[in-house]
Amino acid sequence: MLARPSRLVLGLALLLTISVPARGFASGSGRLLRDVLPTSERLKLNLDARKKSYSGSASIQLRATTAVDSFQFHSEGLKLTRVTLRRAKVLVPSSHEQSAPTTVTVHTKKPLTPGAYTLDLDFTNDFNTVAQGLYRLETGGESYSFTQFEADDARKAFPCWDEPSFKIPYQVTLVVPKAHRAVGNTPIARTIPGKLTKTVVFRTTKPMPSYILAMATGPLEFVPIHGMSIPGNVVTVKGKSALAARAAVMAPPIVAAEERYFGRPYPYEKLDILAVPEFWPGAMENAGAVTFRDEVLLVDPKTVSASQLSTLSLYMAHEFAHQWFGDLVTMEWWDDLWLNESFAEWMGDKISDEVNPQYNQRVVDLRETNRAMFTDSRLSTRAIRRPVTALDNLLEAADDLAYKKGQSVLGMFEEWMGPETFQKGVRAYLNEHAWGNTVASDLWDALSKASGKDTKAAMSTFLDQEGIPLVTADLLPDGKVKLSQQRFLSYGVQPPREQLWRIPVALSYSDGASVKTQHVLLTDREMTVTLEGTRAPAWINPNAGPSGYYRWSVSSDMMGRLAADAGRAMSPVERVGFLGNLSALLEGGLLHGDEFTRLVAKFADDSNPEVILAVMDDVAKVRQVFVTRDLAGAYAAYVRKTLGPAMGRFGLSRREGERESVSLVRPALIRFLADDGQDSRALAYADSLAKQHLASPGSVDASLIGAALEMSAMKGDEALFQEYKKRFEEAEIPAERASYLGALGFFRDPKIADEAIRYTLTGPLRPQEIFTIPSSQAQSFEYEDVPYKWMSENFGTIASKIPPMFMVFMPVTASGCSMERLGKAKVFFADPQHQVPGTDKELAKVEDQVTDCANLRQREGALVAAYLTTQVGAR
Ligand SMILES: [Zn+2]
Repeated sequence: MLARPSRLVLGLALLLTISVPARGFASGSGRLLRDVLPTSERLKLNLDARKKSYSGSASIQLRATTAVDSFQFHSEGLKLTRVTLRRAKVLVPSSHEQSAPTTVTVHTKKPLTPGAYTLDLDFTNDFNTVAQGLYRLETGGESYSFTQFEADDARKAFPCWDEPSFKIPYQVTLVVPKAHRAVGNTPIARTIPGKLTKTVVFRTTKPMPSYILAMATGPLEFVPIHGMSIPGNVVTVKGKSALAARAAVMAPPIVAAEERYFGRPYPYEKLDILAVPEFWPGAMENAGAVTFRDEVLLVDPKTVSASQLSTLSLYMAHEFAHQWFGDLVTMEWWDDLWLNESFAEWMGDKISDEVNPQYNQRVVDLRETNRAMFTDSRLSTRAIRRPVTALDNLLEAADDLAYKKGQSVLGMFEEWMGPETFQKGVRAYLNEHAWGNTVASDLWDALSKASGKDTKAAMSTFLDQEGIPLVTADLLPDGKVKLSQQRFLSYGVQPPREQLWRIPVALSYSDGASVKTQHVLLTDREMTVTLEGTRAPAWINPNAGPSGYYRWSVSSDMMGRLAADAGRAMSPVERVGFLGNLSALLEGGLLHGDEFTRLVAKFADDSNPEVILAVMDDVAKVRQVFVTRDLAGAYAAYVRKTLGPAMGRFGLSRREGERESVSLVRPALIRFLADDGQDSRALAYADSLAKQHLASPGSVDASLIGAALEMSAMKGDEALFQEYKKRFEEAEIPAERASYLGALGFFRDPKIADEAIRYTLTGPLRPQEIFTIPSSQAQSFEYEDVPYKWMSENFGTIASKIPPMFMVFMPVTASGCSMERLGKAKVFFADPQHQVPGTDKELAKVEDQVTDCANLRQREGALVAAYLTTQVGAR
């Protein structure tokens, strides 16, 4: 599954945003016993999405391995109207009961003799309506059904053995209204016409776990994908197929690149990609039927932006990678879900970069990893690999660390082993375990075998213990370098115990003539390294690449030398890494606030657009931590001075033949300068673009529409608000819809802002859209309290609109720098009615973040304020 809809939906992830809940979660009990195992399942569902409920029947082949007189299967909320057990054709006397909320127990009169049995079931159920399990929705006056089963929601749709280790063939048949079409995991074997309905029989699947089954029904449209090794279609709701062409073109080279990397063909018979109007994750890797949020997949060829295409490329590469890693080879249990996601994230970004290098995914990764590193530098962090006993804590098994830390650690060891060796290990792993289940150590074994190095022990120090190390590099008088390690924590926080990592350090340095890189495995607390070829390096950089998952520090003199010679000493991605590390040093108390702001400003003239994005992250940090309303003017001057030169170099509008990376950075620059920088030129430009777009949609550079609408809204009146609202409600193109919705949260007039926040819960918003306006509003000083206030006042209504466990993210609304707001949140969430499993852990993370922020403000605020004040009138 893929997270990160926040980036797409909420736009500015730089400032405080509510991350839209995005991942699978679960409720309920422990694991099923292994005495009676399923070997295949035939499933027939009567799905008329126009109706409230559906019916179905299942016939499950079983094998009893020992003599037992009871066994369990999963069924949650289903009304079972028949449950019979037979051996061949002979009925086995039995009864059944709903023994737990998610499981049914079958009792037999006499113990079963080992062997084959068949369990036949009939059932009825209501469709889900909040985009979970088997759900229905209405759009454009038509009705559809879709599915989203990860992690444990298949059991809410039909009876099954709903755990990833039960990989069996499914044969699915869907009975749908005549005017509807149906999609499953496999090609259609045959369609049998009826009077009012038709029966669509799908081919039997390869062995697969229940969580990657998929179904879709309704008046669907199909756009064929040409050029893959297997057939496939982009599938959309009625009237949207014109927006599918780009996805159909982008998919084949990505599939081909992954086939090349894995050294084996795409594992299934077809690959459909479906655009789903109501959907919680960004995308989901159902075998042969990958589902996406419609705004990710459907783009208007005339108005598509570089950032949309970059997201589409990335999402596809991630989900397609899962077809091998996750689907073909599946984790035995959810405690290795992190590996499933880390690997897909690592592979997806790698392949997206290979096929579409213009989007520079590597840099996006580094910035996201930097954010995960902050989470990992607080005591509330946890090891990414940890036992999952009940499904209750599954959400946490797939947190940001699972995606970005896991990906970064895999990348670090790939670099250490060498990419070819790493690939050899991955291929061997897939070949050995195809169609089966694995645990993480199966992969480490394959990698160790391929490399001849003890990968397992080194990796374990990053995966099985929490936190991130700090590598300090000191240049000794004799020209050697002393490397030392300790846990990196926010300033003043004491480590609870001694920790040691085995860190592959890539050290680059200059001997005056050229840049050299030396690889060292730092296994002890301290280690002295002799640099090859020099005793007096001009500078050293302890994270070349940057390939390491660690923070690093050098003397302040050395830091200055690196920054002064940044263009030559470091590659653009290394400069991005440098800027990310800089903000960590500030939090760790290893750098003062004024030094930080000054060093960041040194990068203002960097010609590389990616580096400017990293500069913006650091400037956003200054704002988030230090800028109060009375400092806004001085801060605005700092923003103009630091980011103005970049705007000058890149220009306000797109130039013929410019790099995609320039198009990608421009909207963020305009937002920053217009809003934070109060730059009149950027504001006027945004205003003119917005007017032009309203008057003549399609006439404005698509990359800039979102920024233009938002910035123009800041001074907008009621009439403009009504106009945006109307455009949002009538939008045919998903991106258009998202742009107007995001902009609705940027009206700063208090009356309109109030109206916008009410609209969030009363307007025709889809469930996954309700966080957009509050997070847009939170980006201004006046309204930074809005998300928490809105959430706490509307908790019940919000809970009725989104799947229950996603409520675990509600503490995030108290993020920021306000201890007062945090205090209120702690009282609010102490009420059991405001808790779901995991709320306490999310709240602990927020508490750490807010406390760090408040402490940092207190510690360094005066220095930063003094520095910012000198910027007024400086340029
Ligand atoms: Zn995934």
